[in-house]
Amino acid sequence: MMIMKKLIQLLKLPENFTGEKVVFVYHNMEILVEKDKEGNPIPEYNKISTYFDLEGSLVPIGIMGGVYYSALNIDDKRDIPDTTKFINVRHLYRTSSENLFFLAGLGRQISDWDRTFRFCGKCGHPTDNHPRERVKICHNCDHISYPKISPAMICSVTRGNEILLARGSKFSRPVYSVLAGFVEPGETLEETVEREVMEETGISVKNIEYFGSQPWPFSSSLMVAFTAEYDFGEIKIDNKEILDAGWFTSDNFPMLPTHHSIAHRLIMNFVENGKGNS
Ligand SMILES: [Zn+2]
Repeated sequence: MMIMKKLIQLLKLPENFTGEKVVFVYHNMEILVEKDKEGNPIPEYNKISTYFDLEGSLVPIGIMGGVYYSALNIDDKRDIPDTTKFINVRHLYRTSSENLFFLAGLGRQISDWDRTFRFCGKCGHPTDNHPRERVKICHNCDHISYPKISPAMICSVTRGNEILLARGSKFSRPVYSVLAGFVEPGETLEETVEREVMEETGISVKNIEYFGSQPWPFSSSLMVAFTAEYDFGEIKIDNKEILDAGWFTSDNFPMLPTHHSIAHRLIMNFVENGKGNS
């Protein structure tokens, strides 16, 4: 399981806070980092606060390990310090700790929600932040908007010492992973597992069991993970969402997903269970 420091989410900076502060600066899906700096590439607070106007524009995230984190969205990505650059938030997994990857992803999700819900979706009036919850309220029509979270399932399908892995058309690298898909209205998570695995690979599954969950902020998802066993069917891919799929043993794995993902944990669970030994 992941070992993560506990995050205390906050809606504002605590009064008399004297600890370290970190501001993540975003432009759409990208985050500001120091050039040529690995490990923790986030620019220091002093640099951010002298360069950007933070007054009234910071979106609080919370405190982890005594450090207060908040987020800032900027519209013009050219206006940044010389020693910094923007990279896709997802790419932090290559160089950064799991905690930083998680915080930077969460910050993007929350600040993107903050930016896109400035106006009421029902009547169009400007919204306000609720004082005690992460909610936008419209004082004109009382409509309220919570941050969007989209439930999705992710599932390992095994057949003896083999696991079903597929290459998605949206993957930027030739990675093979377990299958995943968003829950549709009216579905249970188990029904999503059955439908998605069938739609994407033509395989029927049985013995679906809960494995764990992981927030995945890049698509505002909550990934709910399951294990399942092959029941019947031959692999037949749709060539739209899935470009290739196959049964793999642990000694002939293709390129696998990032180790910060629950997909990776599902695959490692298969290996550790002994089913990976042929
Ligand atoms: Zn309204």
